[in-house]
Amino acid sequence: MSNEERERPVALVTGSTSGIGEAVARRLAADGTRVVVHSRRSAAAGQALAAELGGAYLQADLGVEEEARGLVEAALGRFGRLDVLVNNAGISWPIPHADLAAATPADWRHLLEVNLIAPWVLCTTALPALRRSPGGGSIVNITSHAGVRPKGSSVPYAASKAALNHVTRLLAAALGPDVRVNAVAPGLVDTPMTKDWAEAHELWRDRAPMHRPARPSDVADLVASVIASGYLTGEVIMLDGGLNLT
Ligand code: NAD
Repeated sequence: MSNEERERPVALVTGSTSGIGEAVARRLAADGTRVVVHSRRSAAAGQALAAELGGAYLQADLGVEEEARGLVEAALGRFGRLDVLVNNAGISWPIPHADLAAATPADWRHLLEVNLIAPWVLCTTALPALRRSPGGGSIVNITSHAGVRPKGSSVPYAASKAALNHVTRLLAAALGPDVRVNAVAPGLVDTPMTKDWAEAHELWRDRAPMHRPARPSDVADLVASVIASGYLTGEVIMLDGGLNLT
């Protein structure tokens, strides 16, 4: 590896073989960052994307604590440094808010495990390396407008994202100035996760000032700006096309 290559920052983007994560991986690579592409499954897609971006691909089930830790360790083993962690991987499925019995304790545990505890484990494991980043480390959590407004696919999903928004602020206060921590909280984004959410698509088309859901590249643009903004920390930035104004 040349010295010039070694100086390029390294970003781990979780859940980056589809949707928002893939767009973020593509955008960061275009900006000159070496990207670790990750997924739970889709190894072939991950390897192809990593090869296209000149990065590396790693597989891990983030619902399993040892695999989450192992992901960061493997990324460090591959590149020897980690400057940016984008906690993007997440799960969500619709459960009517008024049907309390439908959101079972098992649903709560699964959602909190992947959407909240896994990012915590990744932050904890990555922290020593992020602190060593020459430009200062950066963590970006992909949360949701559902963690800010009383909305979202289910109550436990919204609660998991609200908790991650607050963890973002708490960590920003604890880790500055070495590591900045911010959250990007999208509204509806056109991704595989939301392809069947007809009602939400209609709502965004009719009511949001932007009259459309976000594209994954819209989210990636904001994530890249947050990483580039060396003084920004502790912010939860909504990206919902203005729907929250209505
Ligand atoms: P997506 O389904 O395309 O991506 C989710 C990714 O998370 C996938 O790559 C999946 O493999 C990964 N993942 C899920 N469980 C995992 C596990 N146990 N271990 C490892 N990886 C796992 O969906 P997306 O819409 O691109 O979602 C990305 C993030 O954005 C999620 O955190 C989601 O909650 C958030 N978000 C999405 C929207 C939206 O409208 N699409 C809105 C707000 C927030």
